[in-house]
Amino acid sequence: MSAVEAEGCLPYEPDARPTQTRLDSAPAAAMLVVRGLSVRYGTTRAVLDLSLDVAAGEAVALLGPNGAGKTSTLHAISGLIGHGGTVAFDGRDLTGHAPEAIARLGLIHVPEGRRVFPTLTVRENLAMGRIAAAGRTGWTEADVLDLFPALGPLLGRAGYALSGGEQQMVALGRALLSVPRLLVLDEPSLGLAPAVVRTVYDALARIAADVPMLVVEQNTAEALRLCVRGHVLAAGRLALTGTAAELGDRDSLLASYLGRRDAAA
Ligand code: ATP
Repeated sequence: MSAVEAEGCLPYEPDARPTQTRLDSAPAAAMLVVRGLSVRYGTTRAVLDLSLDVAAGEAVALLGPNGAGKTSTLHAISGLIGHGGTVAFDGRDLTGHAPEAIARLGLIHVPEGRRVFPTLTVRENLAMGRIAAAGRTGWTEADVLDLFPALGPLLGRAGYALSGGEQQMVALGRALLSVPRLLVLDEPSLGLAPAVVRTVYDALARIAADVPMLVVEQNTAEALRLCVRGHVLAAGRLALTGTAAELGDRDSLLASYLGRRDAAA
């Protein structure tokens, strides 16, 4: 059974014209190239004809309201669900690759909700990241503790006893020990207190200096402070794309969230 069938999803051939306001051509050094991506769950079309790129050295935001298709996009990129269109990483077509194989290539997914192993300690959770490192070296446990000093005293604590913020630090630390070549992050601020969101985003800014990333967020302000540019999804379609400054303009963002081009007028 294919991954598509296993997930109950079918590749979807888009039958309508794209509605994005502007789509830049692929940057010369694009590491992640997504073209014509579509995801569907039964009769629900979650993502339609989405194209985006992440270049070496850049952080890119993927924004949009609830149900816009952001998580589905990340799941498709990481091989967790079947999709139409193509996803290429570092020039390699990922079609047919299992999620584990994609992770071993260095495309590391930090899922929504963290998914920390509840019965493993913090140290053991972090070490799980090494499985996907596939011989790459770079990030160490010491680097993670330098980034998140709060984890130092918690190394022996079980995952179930961690706060949401501590779990997010562990999830990011685990991803770093996979020595990512590109990170895809699903709502890293979800459910966290404002001060913890700041800690997490300060760390992401340091990580982004070394690792390109695609960041899905509801917290547009934090995402646009971190990222150089971004895309806004609405009802599965790319509604708006631009620099962080362009997307920071509240009217155009509101317009794309509402799916109305005239809302900014
Ligand atoms: P949120 O921010 O609320 O997580 P999102 O932008 O990440 O939203 P998705 O979770 O990708 O959006 O969902 C896109 C659409 O696909 C929604 O209509 C959602 O209800 C639907 N959907 C997502 N997962 C499934 C699934 N496993 N089965 C059926 N429909 C799904």
